[in-house]
Amino acid sequence: MFTAEQLTTITNGELIQGKLDVHIHSIHFNSQKLEKSSCFIALTKGKRDGHQFLGDACRAGATIAIISDPNVQRKGIEELTLILVKDTELALQQLAKAHRHTLSIPIIAITGSNGKTTTKDMIAHILASRKKVYKTSGNLNNHLGAPLSLLQIDDTYEAAVLELGMNHAGEIDLLGSFVQPTVSVITNIGDAHIEFFGSKLGIAKAKGELLPHTDKDAFVLLNKDDQFVCSQADRYPGKVYYYSIQQKTDVFATNISFTDQGTIFTLHINEESISCFMPMFGQYNVSNVLPGAFIAYQYGYSLEQIAASLLSLSISSMRFQIIDGPGQSLLINDAYNASPTSMRASIQTFKQIFAQRKKILVLGDIYELGEESDQLHISVGEYIRGLNQNDSEFQLITVGQSSQLIAQAGQGVHYPTKTEALKALEPYLTQDYAILFKASRGMKLEEMIAELVK
Ligand code: ATP
Ligand code: MG
Repeated sequence: MFTAEQLTTITNGELIQGKLDVHIHSIHFNSQKLEKSSCFIALTKGKRDGHQFLGDACRAGATIAIISDPNVQRKGIEELTLILVKDTELALQQLAKAHRHTLSIPIIAITGSNGKTTTKDMIAHILASRKKVYKTSGNLNNHLGAPLSLLQIDDTYEAAVLELGMNHAGEIDLLGSFVQPTVSVITNIGDAHIEFFGSKLGIAKAKGELLPHTDKDAFVLLNKDDQFVCSQADRYPGKVYYYSIQQKTDVFATNISFTDQGTIFTLHINEESISCFMPMFGQYNVSNVLPGAFIAYQYGYSLEQIAASLLSLSISSMRFQIIDGPGQSLLINDAYNASPTSMRASIQTFKQIFAQRKKILVLGDIYELGEESDQLHISVGEYIRGLNQNDSEFQLITVGQSSQLIAQAGQGVHYPTKTEALKALEPYLTQDYAILFKASRGMKLEEMIAELVK
């Protein structure tokens, strides 16, 4: 991959121990992930200083370490070639950028407020039916995860799909500058992190930073159903395509319906159409699957190949997972994360799929909503009250703190703790009921489900 000499040049570093002709085959900042002939980067801004792990790195087979502390204890790491840089985080990004230039495969980047991981996994899954595809592992989408992901791509892959996330303006600009995507996708603009941006347009602009970094001879794919996403289109000089589950455009879906096994819809691309089934739930997942279908089509996959690959899509854990609960109740674990937008989307799906059952919503706090937090929690409650207007379809239980406002506006009952909420659920653990669990990650609502199925 690189020699010590190349690493020194790229990072503008100084060789302070060892030899310039040492080769490495991989780079990592987690000493536990290192292999033989690898390079360890000692990051310093996390909970623990990476310099403490140089001994481990050496024992794991690293031959080079990139460090920023010139006074680091050398005893026990005499075998390591050491490169001293000013900022190891910057060095990681510089290396990712240099490595990017050696790759000639299409690199597809996805950003947006909701659905990035799902869309990324779906694109990779569809392309994988005919190509060897690298994808971001899990959710490694930030200023460290994205360069790390890039550095894992080698020339045995034929395409790569990377997820890019952000909390602040300028972050996607930075990630885009070293990822330099061939194709970019923006899924949607929600309310997450609104505290840092002031408005949804502010969030849209921050996501839109990806577009100028995209290869202008390829294309970008934008969600037509989100006006804030569309507001960014003119930042890309090349070809902009759109996807939609509401209207006719470059790639779109019609006839969406649900069974308890998954979702049926008709996929339309370029005047062709095909009936599809996927073992996943939710209107939003039809939206999430369209970029993968379109990108595959652009790379020469037939509609039949695309539809066939959808049959073997799998649901990631805690993303609308349907679980058999006690007393033949059904528990829906959507506790992976939540924003007001995704909470409404999830309730909508819940309503459509479980038309035959009585429905209970167990909702928790939504984090990172800033000054508008109260209002946004209230808006979710009002949404539920609206749905309940005619037939009181949902019973509402909330858990935590801010979610009390959802209960107040939505005529539900609030419990400060999971233990109390679990007690309240007892009478509903029967075959008549389906129970949806959703909140921000930090609420760990899946613990309630674990308790129930124990
Ligand atoms: P993160 O910012 O945590 O990385 P993400 O953007 O990667 O999130 P996913 O992990 O794909 O998003 O999905 C998280 C949750 O968001 C899902 O469980 C679902 O409830 C909701 N969601 C997924 N796709 C959409 C969508 N297109 N629109 C609205 N909500 C969605
Ligand atoms: Mg994600």
